Amino acid sequence: MDSISVNYSGADSDVIYLNWPEEKTNDLDSFIILGEGNDGVESSQISSFWSGLSSPKWNAYKESKKLVEEAPYHPGYEGAVFNDFAKPISEKIKERLLKSSKRFNANDNISEFIKDGEIELLVDELTGKFASVLDTLVIDRQNDPNSHDTAKRLAKMYIYELMDGRYTKRPDATSFPNEGSDRFEGMLCVRAELTSMCSHHHQPVRGIAVIGIIPTGRVIGLSKYVRIAQWCARRGQLQEDLVNQIAKEIMHATDTENVAVYIQATHGCMENRGVEAHSSLTQTSVVHGLFHNDSVKAEFFNNVKLQLSK
Ligand SMILES: [Zn+2]
Repeated sequence: MDSISVNYSGADSDVIYLNWPEEKTNDLDSFIILGEGNDGVESSQISSFWSGLSSPKWNAYKESKKLVEEAPYHPGYEGAVFNDFAKPISEKIKERLLKSSKRFNANDNISEFIKDGEIELLVDELTGKFASVLDTLVIDRQNDPNSHDTAKRLAKMYIYELMDGRYTKRPDATSFPNEGSDRFEGMLCVRAELTSMCSHHHQPVRGIAVIGIIPTGRVIGLSKYVRIAQWCARRGQLQEDLVNQIAKEIMHATDTENVAVYIQATHGCMENRGVEAHSSLTQTSVVHGLFHNDSVKAEFFNNVKLQLSK
């Protein structure tokens, strides 16, 4: 027995799971419902489906399946998937997260719960969802050439760019020993350009991070500080969380407590909407370990000034 997931593309966002014999998938009369609640189906969903086989819902299902199968003859459906024998991939990933009691907030990395090939399936699923969003915005996806492939573009942008830091693993940052009489005992400051997105409005957040470290036993390559900071930024963030996450990841990679991070950024949600404050700037900073020491802290913020004057 396989289960079917029916997405009423565009017409209705309900999703219904049913079980039936695989060889009978095209034979409407041979549906077998194995029991209420199977696969998490609400009994009301089953009965409404069962009693509505000739209803507009069922016709919408058949129509959307045909449209997807016959793409590219139906513009707008090229990227859609008709996922007959599986739940939406997002549901499967969510089930794994819930089973492990793992948080999946907008700024959490969930890469270890995503298997090979599933990112592409997420992009496909999201394309269908963005198509529905555009439909609800009453945008003519079929005839407006600029909106034709927008659903696919949005899906790829979210998964591969704006939220890439949720779905990809922590950047490799091999650390090297910093030992012996010639070890580096000073303060290292690295500047990183950040592009992020606020989790409240999904508006761009753009800024600069200055990462300070006083190494103890180990150091990492300079570009790794930047890569780690960008990996943290590429999520739905709050600037307060972002500065903490970067500090935590740098402490983890360098195996030292002595880390400070300063961020200054502009927020699209302040500039493009709401107060429309075009010159607003938000600063956050956090210090750990030796950076709590007043003179060390002063040296760090002096270095921040030097970094930002460049
Ligand atoms: Zn916002």
